[in-house]
Amino acid sequence: MTLTFTATVLGSPRIGPQRELKRAVESYWAGRSDAATLESVAEGLRRRTWTQLRDAGIDSVPVNTFSYYDHVLDTAVMLGALPERVAGIADPLDRYFAAARGNDTIAPLEMTKWFDTNYHYIVPEIAPSTTFALDASKVLGELREALALGIPARPVIVGPVTFLLLSKPVDTNEPLLGRLGEILPLYADLLGRLAEAGAEWVQFDEPALVADRSEEEIAAARRAYDHLSGVDTRPAILLASYFGSLGEALPALAETGVEGIAVDLVAGSDNLAGVPALAHKHVVAGVVDGRNIWRTDLEKALGQLGTQLGSAGSLAVSTSCSLLHVPYTLDAESGLDKALRSWLAFGSEKVREVVALATALAGRRDEVEDEFALARAAQSTRANDGRLHDAALRARLNEISSSDGGRASADARREIQTDKLGLPVLPTTTIGSYPQTTAIRVARAALRKGEIDEAEYIRRMQQEVADVVALQEKLGLGVLVHGEPERNDMVQYFAEQLDGFFATANGWVQSYGSRCVRPPILFGDVQRPHPMTVEWYRYAQSLTDKPVKGMLTGPVTILAWSFVRDDQPLADSADQVALAIRDETIDLEAAGARVVQVDEPALRELLPLRKKDQEEYLKWSVGSFRLATSGVTDATQIHTHLCYSEFGEVIDAIAGLDADVTSIEAARSRMEVLDDLNAVGFDLGVGPGVYDIHSPRVPSVDEIAESLRAALKAVPAQRLWVNPDCGLKTRGNEEVEASLRNLVAATERVRAEL
Ligand code: GLN
Ligand code: ZN
Repeated sequence: MTLTFTATVLGSPRIGPQRELKRAVESYWAGRSDAATLESVAEGLRRRTWTQLRDAGIDSVPVNTFSYYDHVLDTAVMLGALPERVAGIADPLDRYFAAARGNDTIAPLEMTKWFDTNYHYIVPEIAPSTTFALDASKVLGELREALALGIPARPVIVGPVTFLLLSKPVDTNEPLLGRLGEILPLYADLLGRLAEAGAEWVQFDEPALVADRSEEEIAAARRAYDHLSGVDTRPAILLASYFGSLGEALPALAETGVEGIAVDLVAGSDNLAGVPALAHKHVVAGVVDGRNIWRTDLEKALGQLGTQLGSAGSLAVSTSCSLLHVPYTLDAESGLDKALRSWLAFGSEKVREVVALATALAGRRDEVEDEFALARAAQSTRANDGRLHDAALRARLNEISSSDGGRASADARREIQTDKLGLPVLPTTTIGSYPQTTAIRVARAALRKGEIDEAEYIRRMQQEVADVVALQEKLGLGVLVHGEPERNDMVQYFAEQLDGFFATANGWVQSYGSRCVRPPILFGDVQRPHPMTVEWYRYAQSLTDKPVKGMLTGPVTILAWSFVRDDQPLADSADQVALAIRDETIDLEAAGARVVQVDEPALRELLPLRKKDQEEYLKWSVGSFRLATSGVTDATQIHTHLCYSEFGEVIDAIAGLDADVTSIEAARSRMEVLDDLNAVGFDLGVGPGVYDIHSPRVPSVDEIAESLRAALKAVPAQRLWVNPDCGLKTRGNEEVEASLRNLVAATERVRAEL
């Protein structure tokens, strides 16, 4: 067999430890710098990433994991599969960015979530007219660049099966896997070129194979890798899976001639059962969690490597997936207490863990005994820290969950609420946020730099609230909001106020393109030391007689956008967060709120990849929402907001949330969603967004009225709400005012027709 390796990672963060790439591409987009400047920043980041990995003891270093925007888009470029509408742009870099972001005349490709992570990839469009052609310049370029630096480079490429499964068929209903025969020759050709350039290994990423796949799909994967492993001159092939278990695909892939298979042993512990089939393979064992930020239990991992993985042909230690999903390093984080710091491992710390395990596995444990000692100490201090086991909280949670009788029936609640709110039929409202103006951003920055104090910051935010309330009064909206100016982010805002969460200062992770987020770390039991939103509500309500909605983020969304505990089931963490939100709803009600909205835009995001796991997830996620929202009286109206309209597997769950009013994104998918909801007997209030806030376009009165009339065909007037399809924070003041004016006018027109 080819030279094997012992320690690797499946990929690295690429945005730059100080988000250098973000700044460089944004300055290029704005025309403030040229391509050469951008390329030199990129080259510096790559060099730094590779040399750090090598110097840390990684003996096979992933390359081509760098990207100016997204690695799936890079793959589309490699295969010559960009849509015709961008093909006319001569400059390759501008063409690439036009595909990713669009320009004045070209619509961008769609973007969607990368499996169940918070990374988003660009969805390639493949039409019958697409003719594939290999452009290996990026991967060969990075390979040569790395080899010239003496890096043991292993190019990483999205594999052919995953590429086709993730792409979107255009002008056809044929499954794209039928196009495999067209791209395999390109991959085969690429293998030859990589070998010629000096690659010993190549990694093909096939995460799509950890989801439920049909027999035909698995057979296609098998054919693909039979074909590629049959190529004469080629590097050794590592077929990389991650985010779950390969299941039925594992034995099929084991029969192909690929030299190595990477398995995720964190998200896919079922993979262990498949290891006996890998007796002739180089198994790259993903025992260090690439997606979460906890220090690895090294003893346990080493035990696993030595026993259950002992039957592998040969073994390398690895992260479970690319480190793209965690921040660069703990070194950038101040403000962590000593205990918490000792429990964590970000990107570079995970690399150290991989190397320590590989060293111990090679029989040289004495060299890395310190790492093992730290890991052991972390295990024990974490297990014994009082912040993780609050007996009083747990007792209270038990008591509430078992005594919670729920609320009255939907109809009964509607009657009481309608009376209390006194709203006209087809009530109008907005989803929560109003434009995040320059004044807001300036104030936030000034507070952070210490140029203004907390009191001045609050004064400025109150001014924003007053403006937004006045605007809504002027426009004649029915249920008002305060506009959320004080929230940097709908999850972080709550995480910063709840005990049990740590909000990082520099823990940036790429979300898409140049956009980065800092997911908070949920490390302990969740407590709400004080009300979080009540004063903002109270202030807004003091300015108007119309009902102002209290605005909260739901437990599932808070978890979905955080790093979560791995020492208890997610369901338990969800209930703890739910209890804090429940207490907040009760305080809002006591302060006078007649309507409270609990947003769950991420409800669908945490849906498990395998069908067999979905029911359980939906059960606890719905349960946590109900726990969060059932503490108020029947007279208090609960709203929720979901950021999508393709319900699929979650449609029953949406009904199960039992929110009095659910606003959904429907402007773009017409009103089909209402039919879907009717089909499951949904009989609550619903606000199918009547215009698309993702575009600066101001919708006309006619157009909104038309969409309301369409909605009325599916939903009786007394259940229908009128609202935009999402929050307005990314929009400008003028368009918002014009759009909402038309929304109110259209509603009045349609009301008159009733
Ligand atoms: N209330 C939030 C807002 O309006 C909801 C955001 C979201 O749907 N992601 O901004
Ligand atoms: Zn939304």
